[in-house]
Amino acid sequence: MSDITHQRVLEHCKRLYLGLIAQRLDGLLEEAAREGLTYLDFLDRTLAAELASKAEKRVRMGIQIAHFPAQKTLEEFDFQAQPSVDPRLVRELSTGRFVANATNVLLFGPPGVCQTHLAIGIGRAVVAAGYTVLFVTATELIAALDKAQSEGRLAEKVAQYAKPKLLIIDELGYLPFEKRAAHLLFQLIVRRYERTATLITTNQMVTQWGAVFGDEMIAAALLDRLLHHSHTMVIQGDSYRMKEKRRSGLWVPPSESARQ
Ligand code: ADP
Ligand code: MG
Repeated sequence: MSDITHQRVLEHCKRLYLGLIAQRLDGLLEEAAREGLTYLDFLDRTLAAELASKAEKRVRMGIQIAHFPAQKTLEEFDFQAQPSVDPRLVRELSTGRFVANATNVLLFGPPGVCQTHLAIGIGRAVVAAGYTVLFVTATELIAALDKAQSEGRLAEKVAQYAKPKLLIIDELGYLPFEKRAAHLLFQLIVRRYERTATLITTNQMVTQWGAVFGDEMIAAALLDRLLHHSHTMVIQGDSYRMKEKRRSGLWVPPSESARQ
């Protein structure tokens, strides 16, 4: 291939946004010559490499946009350590089908039983399946809505949080809400209802939601929307964080220390 043709191919690639082919053109050509690829096989391999690189970039960007608080994956998740988590349900959720169907997911459980880890793991899988995801804690979300309201930009903020195909709200119920905050959350959930999926982790069973929101009516109305199309999982057991401490001898559960 003459220098001029080589140069032109590189320019065509750039104009067609075939970044990987442009970057690896020499290597791809050498490989094809070495292996005696047919024209069709060469084209096939080259396009496949470009597609794979684009998919990888898309996932990387999607993960950045999601703002996950930590790097956790479902592959790292130890199902044996947490028998109350149904691996089949997690596998189903990781396909992202629930997002396509605007189904919600509610994870109930005490602190330390892996709720955030599972939420991030499912969130990453949903990004890989091609959907937009945003992760927030309940406290962050309420603070953002509250601030927007006081600045007269509530509609804009609600629209922003209504947009991602999957919104993950972590740690709902750790801090009690004021009635006003509950109304703000309600507006968002109504906007998302049957349009987009919401995944919530909470330490409060549904019977406690009235107390969390300081209002039985709003709690019932919220739960009605959230549970209508939903998967729920109740996670039990000891804190995984404490288990690690216990293994290292730093911590003894109260029940055992009483026996000693
Ligand atoms: P929670 O959100 O329920 O308070 P986390 O998901 O933050 O708990 O879990 C606490 C820590 O323990 C994290 O570092 C998490 O990765 C780890 N962890 C918890 N459960 C598991 C598990 N079953 N397999 C692997 N790591 C786990
Ligand atoms: Mg957590």
